[in-house]
Amino acid sequence: MELLEKASAVYKENFSNHAWFGKCIFLSWYCTIGDCTFCYRSTIKENVTPETARRSFPSILIEALFCKAFNWRLEFITGGYGILPFEETKKICKVISEIMGEKIWLNLGVLSKKQLEELKPYVKGIVASIETINPELHKKVCPSKPIAPYEHMFSYADGFEKSITFIVGLGETIADFELLQKFIEKHNINRITFYALKPVRGTEYEHTTGPKSEYYAEWIARTRIAFPKLEIMAGITPRRAEDVEIILRAGANAVTKFSATKLFNSERAHLFEAKAKSAGREFLSSLTKMPDIDWDGWIDSLDIDEVTKKDTKILIQHYLHRMNKPKSLEPIHLVLD
Ligand code: SF4
Repeated sequence: MELLEKASAVYKENFSNHAWFGKCIFLSWYCTIGDCTFCYRSTIKENVTPETARRSFPSILIEALFCKAFNWRLEFITGGYGILPFEETKKICKVISEIMGEKIWLNLGVLSKKQLEELKPYVKGIVASIETINPELHKKVCPSKPIAPYEHMFSYADGFEKSITFIVGLGETIADFELLQKFIEKHNINRITFYALKPVRGTEYEHTTGPKSEYYAEWIARTRIAFPKLEIMAGITPRRAEDVEIILRAGANAVTKFSATKLFNSERAHLFEAKAKSAGREFLSSLTKMPDIDWDGWIDSLDIDEVTKKDTKILIQHYLHRMNKPKSLEPIHLVLD
């Protein structure tokens, strides 16, 4: 409690009482690395190819439109390693940054200096998915994804903001916080995204429960106290919607990972918003209210070809139908997270 109160006080001294939802847009479920021991992609690698596992361009566009429409901030666009030719990645970054009206964050592994230069007009920040910081544990959970290449990328990423991701519950202890602190200081990190481990079926974590809420919050609180001005994002799965309050009290700026389109206007989404309010924050995004928007007119205004416009208009109706469907009484065991 003491730690939470201190973190809350540090947060209040440095930020407004706002909070928002940060949406990740996934480009693909494939990854050439595919052996991180906690990752869903490692369980499907043998059954998919870069072609079969990729999202359609219209569905990517729709999620960007939703970010703008519901005041979700785009956390980053992401996917595994080796998913798309670079030119296509660039095209997606361009269109999404146009929809968002600002440069975006990118979490697509280690990019070369030349690639970063080409992305500069559309990308403001890059993310290193380091996952965990203890070197021994890192070798075990990410055997083919060392941290050093990310550190090298940071060394030449002039003009970009820098972010890392960190999963709580992989087997680290709070004693590892010191290592995280040193890493943030060494690389002048601007943002960190925490996740509470979600045990994925088919991985070695399948039969674990994920970290306790208090332990998850402790990582966030210690980070807030050590770095008063750092942007801290915290991931919440639908099952953990109750935890929105504790992670905001621990000093997170905003919340990410929630299945916002699938669970739009659901009991979980209402709980999420209520918990943000009880944490004393004004929640700037919406997970529950559908704005009155001329979607087709908006899609027509985008700088994309006519076939993509037509496909996007058709697909968005499926999304809207699902989001508008009443689901407030849906019990939690039917809610996939
Ligand atoms: S590199 Fe990322 S996407 Fe690929 S297996 Fe590891 S955690 Fe999953």
